[in-house]
Amino acid sequence: MDLGIKGKRALVCASSKGLGRGCAEALAAEGVHLVMNARSDGPLQEAAQAIRDAHGVEVVAVAADITTEEGRAQVLAAAGQVDILVTNAGGPPPGMWHDWEREDFIKALDANMLTPIALIKALVPGMMERGWGRVVNITSQSVKAPIPVLGLSNSARAGLTGYVAGTARQVAEKGVTINNLLPGIHATDRAVSLDTGVSKAQGITMDEARKQREATIPARRYGTAEEFGAACAFICSHHAGFMIGQNVLLDGGATNATI
Ligand code: NAP
Repeated sequence: MDLGIKGKRALVCASSKGLGRGCAEALAAEGVHLVMNARSDGPLQEAAQAIRDAHGVEVVAVAADITTEEGRAQVLAAAGQVDILVTNAGGPPPGMWHDWEREDFIKALDANMLTPIALIKALVPGMMERGWGRVVNITSQSVKAPIPVLGLSNSARAGLTGYVAGTARQVAEKGVTINNLLPGIHATDRAVSLDTGVSKAQGITMDEARKQREATIPARRYGTAEEFGAACAFICSHHAGFMIGQNVLLDGGATNATI
């Protein structure tokens, strides 16, 4: 299927690896020019070059921390006008509800709620003026069903979800869609770090920790960045213009709910 977005320009945040990289690759495969971002310049430049080589699209790579005002300013200055925005950043660390202080919440809110909101506020007005735009926020399955040890993530992402629910309905008439993609467990560095935590806490091997988690997923496996990217590209496509303010779960069936 031709997604109808060839020649458009996308900002994909936190995209040198993992799910952001999957989204960048899938958009580039559709002929979308990219602005990519991550904090470490080396892996970012390597990823950008690999995508240029594979798909022949223009890629601007900006090494910056997207969760800081300064980092966002750098990325937005390099990005200029974009048609597609994919927001993403690292997730907050796990822990226990009684250990988190105000500063921990502020950090999580900054990274996983206020950063996407700032990027939406900066880029959606231009999309509305031009009458076409797509925003996809990478959030988490924890929005639908909490993951207790990820209380900081549960809180920040729920806040973003509330903002998107209203805002998506305010901008839709101008041809701009805002939706959220909710990953369950995917085989990325984030999954390795979560498995490391389980392996240490339970005194089991990494392989056992992964098998234990896979057994809880109806698909009996972790998702891949490629399939996550493909779903993102579809939501950014010409065909998905009637999809407004949705929370699309990609979790291999892990969240046990009827709707
Ligand atoms: P990942 O494999 O660790 O990749 C993270 C990417 O983001 C890297 O390119 C990293 O590069 C970049 N990054 C991290 N913090 C950044 C920042 N502050 N500014 C700019 N770039 C930043 O992670 P992932 O698995 O793709 O996860 C992406 C998001 O989905 C996270 O918020 C995670 O919590 C959420 N999520 C993931 C899963 C999963 O199973 N993978 C499940 C649910 C939710 P640098 O380190 O160089 O900055």
